[in-house]
Amino acid sequence: MQPPATVSILGVPIHNVTEDEAVTYLAALLRAGGPHQVVTTNPEFVMEAQHNTAFRAVLLKADLATPDGFGLILAARWLGTPLHGRATGVALVQRIAALAAEQGYRVFFLGAAPSVAAEAAAILQARYPALQVAGCFAGSPNPRHEPFLRQLLAAARPDVLFVAYGHPAQDLWIARNQPTLQIPLAMGVGGVFDYLSGRVPLAPAWLRRLGLEWLFRLIVQPRRWRRILVAVPLFLWAVWRHGRNE
Ligand code: UDP
Repeated sequence: MQPPATVSILGVPIHNVTEDEAVTYLAALLRAGGPHQVVTTNPEFVMEAQHNTAFRAVLLKADLATPDGFGLILAARWLGTPLHGRATGVALVQRIAALAAEQGYRVFFLGAAPSVAAEAAAILQARYPALQVAGCFAGSPNPRHEPFLRQLLAAARPDVLFVAYGHPAQDLWIARNQPTLQIPLAMGVGGVFDYLSGRVPLAPAWLRRLGLEWLFRLIVQPRRWRRILVAVPLFLWAVWRHGRNE
């Protein structure tokens, strides 16, 4: 199966897929076997990639980079290369869990605070009872822990690995370890386990549709203000400046 077309935002390629198209392509990657890496690119990823060359290389090499974040939709429209829609990490984790339950793929949940990965897995298993959980472990993105985590994963033999260490750590972790792990589908999922376990509330759908998720986050997690500043005004400013200089 041909990879989907990409749209470039500030030099970072994003596959132009809707959520359904992303799931269809992920199912094809799983059927094909072999190691694959999925990133859910949002404006913060694009901004980080402007100065972090290792992270940028990972985003460029990913087998699927989905558009996560309303800011990307807006930026792509301004640049005259519109994206068809969003495929967010939180939606994809649930869709992949459904697919795994249907096809018998084993899923491993790595990262987040102690017990959060297991809570997220239990919630998905309650929703999709056929889901096979290969394991849950908090661990740490510190490279010193890698030999142990590689052993744990080799023994668990998952088909799908979700890694919740936040960006860029989780995506760099996958890129460093996939050559050894060879997991058919590994994806960085940021705060998705926190959302699924109900520790962090997800913005209501109507606010997400209006592109005001950032405002909701600012209210429920005010300590993230600096990150929201990078993700919203600074990102849009950088895209606008780039568009004028083209
Ligand atoms: N996290 C972790 N270990 C770390 C740093 C972060 O397990 O050393 C987890 C944290 O508990 C949270 C997730 O990584 O569940 C980061 O969520 P965030 O929403 O910040 O993700 P991002 O937007 O950076 O991808």
